Amino acid sequence: MNTTIGVIGLGLMGTAMARRLAQSGWAVTGYNRHPREIEDIPTAANLAELADRAETLWLMVSDHKACREVIDTLGEAGVRDHVVINSSTIAPSESAEIARRVEALGGEYLEAPVLGSIPQAQSGTLQLLLGGEADLVERLDPLLRTLGTPTHFGEIRSGAGAKLAFNQLIGSLTAAFSMSLGLVQREGVDVDKFMATLRESALYAPTFDKKLDNMLGHSFEKANFPLKHLLKDIRLFTQSAGGQGIDTHLLIGLQHVLEEGIYAGHGNHDYSSLFESIVREQATTH
Ligand code: NAP
Repeated sequence: MNTTIGVIGLGLMGTAMARRLAQSGWAVTGYNRHPREIEDIPTAANLAELADRAETLWLMVSDHKACREVIDTLGEAGVRDHVVINSSTIAPSESAEIARRVEALGGEYLEAPVLGSIPQAQSGTLQLLLGGEADLVERLDPLLRTLGTPTHFGEIRSGAGAKLAFNQLIGSLTAAFSMSLGLVQREGVDVDKFMATLRESALYAPTFDKKLDNMLGHSFEKANFPLKHLLKDIRLFTQSAGGQGIDTHLLIGLQHVLEEGIYAGHGNHDYSSLFESIVREQATTH
């Protein structure tokens, strides 16, 4: 497969993905709304220039509004005869709307949200959750495998639906673990013994150990997946699942906790900083 890739959105993930693609031998050009230089990767000054240089446009932007603005700015001149891969996390209905726009402008669309974060993008071990035409998935296979393992779930919406299902688990598991860890600490239970018992039980999830040190050390500044994006995803899950007759009352508390995290200044910190909103500092009495 001989193609040139334009990565749109050089944020935390877009930068890591562009680097991985370039290091694997693909011809990559980057573009960011607010110009940003990345070592070893040429950037285009605007989207028209990017579309001239790249046959495949790979979006990794914040949300649906950003996807729409990019596609509308590219217009027919930028989209026609291009493949648009969208790895931004957006709702199934939003992805279907972007797909219709891309196809109306003469392009092909593949929904490809990813599970995993910066380390997985760097090592090419992301899980790519695909929705779209089987022949397009097949054609793009060598490119997709540069970033990780592709799973084709079915038509447009299915990859986005799977992604929201996974991210609901990220939020809910992290919140559930925070509450239990908080009680363990406040009751003076030995954390090492608690974790050792948890690891041997059916209740254990590896993400607990991944975030344990952050929580114990109150250290959240180094973010792979920022809290503000988890709040976006929990809101998207609530809207999408609520519209499908799934009771999402449990997520009202989680949204509240994440909103408190934003007010407390954790928006750009790691999502595990939701621990701070759940296990509050106690006033000391003398
Ligand atoms: P990020 O660091 O906040 O980057 C967001 C990117 O979107 C920036 O390049 C930003 O450009 C661009 N953008 C925002 N609004 C735009 C607009 N209206 N027009 C054009 N570009 C716009 O976010 P990220 O962590 O890389 O995440 C990107 C997407 O991937 C999100 O949907 C996120 O939920 C999803 N995701 C993230 C992770 C992760 O671990 N971080 C993992 C899987 C999926 P400016 O710099 O100009 O603002």
